[in-house]
Amino acid sequence: MPRRAPAPPEAATAPRGPVDTARVRDLVRELLIALGEDPDREGLVRTPQRVAEALAFLTSGTRTDLARLINNAIFTQQTNSMVIVKNIEVYSLCEHHMLPFFGRCHIGYIPTGKVFGVSKLARLADMYARRLQLQERLTEQISEAVMETVGATGVGVMIEARHLCMMMRGVEKQNSVMVTSSVLGTFRESQATREEFLALIGERAL
Ligand SMILES: [Zn+2]
Repeated sequence: MPRRAPAPPEAATAPRGPVDTARVRDLVRELLIALGEDPDREGLVRTPQRVAEALAFLTSGTRTDLARLINNAIFTQQTNSMVIVKNIEVYSLCEHHMLPFFGRCHIGYIPTGKVFGVSKLARLADMYARRLQLQERLTEQISEAVMETVGATGVGVMIEARHLCMMMRGVEKQNSVMVTSSVLGTFRESQATREEFLALIGERAL
């Protein structure tokens, strides 16, 4: 079975304040010096500013409000059939090393009269991916957000991802893919529903 872990308390999703970009820039300059680099050499002069801007973007999900993101993209539709969106690309940063992990996310849910606009599920996955994350927590946060936002009777989320902190540092770990899943409601209670979800997401793309 894929791994799953409960979301720890720090997974609270209330939007945070703005990034102190100037401070991050100064700290990256200090970091370069501590690494033995010359931050004034040509290639590095603008690096602290670039890194600060990149990190602000890559953590922007902590400053995004879920309700505002979803906005008007929930539609009334009388269906009790499973809705599947698969192969949503996700790019995130592992909170242990601040290095990327990336892969694909598959989402299934059973609606009770409300469905998402398709692109919103991808935006929702981005919002939770753009923060310092654990893959297990990312998977759970997406499933819980889908469950609550459309009042689904059940949700299944699976993420398959590669972690650069393993691939760049280890040996012979370049091909390992970590798989996590989170199932809620009818997906947790019914084996037939879980099997339908797994059949519909089909062959892994990684
Ligand atoms: Zn890591």
